[in-house]
Amino acid sequence: MPKNDASRHRAPMRGAEQIQQYCLAGNATITLLSQKTGQRFTYRFRKKEQTSGNPVWFIGLLAGPDNQSSYKYIGYVAGPQHRLQWSRKSCAGQDAPSWRALLWFWRSITETAAIPPMLEVWHEGKCGRCGRALTVPLSIERGIGPECWEIIGGAIEPARMAAE
Ligand SMILES: [Zn+2]
Repeated sequence: MPKNDASRHRAPMRGAEQIQQYCLAGNATITLLSQKTGQRFTYRFRKKEQTSGNPVWFIGLLAGPDNQSSYKYIGYVAGPQHRLQWSRKSCAGQDAPSWRALLWFWRSITETAAIPPMLEVWHEGKCGRCGRALTVPLSIERGIGPECWEIIGGAIEPARMAAE
């Protein structure tokens, strides 16, 4: 575990639905850790409301030592099915391990509602919506603080059917 995490309640997350909810909460940071290779990648999911009413989540890849400012754009999530999209502005190519790990993870939790085998998914000890430090065990398990949990309704919105 990196040494700057001593004061934070980082925690591995369980449950694909819970992980998806956390990632889409608005201001979430996850680390994917392969138990097979030891390789890890950290991503930030930032929600942006669009004027159309359909939000987009821009995803940054942690690319340097500074946990706050060294995120580089790698892709986005959009649409009623929360599909992950690569674009030409992505900092990593479609063959890059950082992109492939994210795609593999995201497809697994959104399409099969399962966490891939041999993969750990960690949050960074901060609320996935507002960024405040998590202190209560239940909040640490969810990755979302009690107030934000109320606001987001404690569950993923059911995917809107393809009316749009
Ligand atoms: Zn919060």
